[in-house]
Amino acid sequence: MKFKKRQIDRYSRQIILKKIGVLGQKKLLQSSVLIVGAGGLGSPISIYLTALGVGKIGVVDSDNVEMSNLSRQIVFNTSDIKKNKSFAAVNRLKKINPDIQFQSFKKKLIAENINKIARNFKVIVDGSDNFKTRFLINDYCLKNRKILVSGAISKFDGQVYTFNFHKKKSPCLKCFIPKMPNGDDGDLEIDNCENEGVLGTLAGIIGSIQANEVIKEILGIGDTLCGYILIIDALKLTFRKVKLYKRSDCYCNEKKK
Ligand SMILES: [Zn+2]
Repeated sequence: MKFKKRQIDRYSRQIILKKIGVLGQKKLLQSSVLIVGAGGLGSPISIYLTALGVGKIGVVDSDNVEMSNLSRQIVFNTSDIKKNKSFAAVNRLKKINPDIQFQSFKKKLIAENINKIARNFKVIVDGSDNFKTRFLINDYCLKNRKILVSGAISKFDGQVYTFNFHKKKSPCLKCFIPKMPNGDDGDLEIDNCENEGVLGTLAGIIGSIQANEVIKEILGIGDTLCGYILIIDALKLTFRKVKLYKRSDCYCNEKKK
């Protein structure tokens, strides 16, 4: 692919970086990322990935925008209330960068549709709000050797983890949380923003770190969080990076997987 003049202008501050350059920017433009959940995390993730030139972006969300979302879901305007989130998000993102190819999925991600939705994307970013979806995405990415960047927020606390399933040593979500919490009712929200509350800026911090992880994984630069979990306390402003071990009894160790 050849850059157009306006593309060189748009991405000039990245192209000038030695670790990115023209080749890196082309890699970004040729990459594809699926964002699951256009919420507090999906907002900064989708805005940054769009702005910096990830060529193909998918957004999955079946919910509609509500007034109580707007304190942290910055991809939406007040006029988006009652509109489907995946459509409203893509509508806004198109205005940020018309270079990007977008796909919106007004769907809840389930076992029956995950392959159809996710198969054409190289990286999956999880900004969902329940364990059932998180476990489903983990299993799908492991089986199909996709890169998974996941984030969670609640109150003033957040977590980020990256699993690069191209790497044999990569642990998976189940190495960290072996069983779905709360029994079979994985629908229970993790961050439960509705009941517990959440600070708007925390979504910005965690989502931006997730977007940063995606870029490093696509470009193969720096050290990603693969094999670690990053735990952030926004009140004390502490960042703890804790090693995650691949559990010998986890199903990700089975040879056929
Ligand atoms: Zn595992």
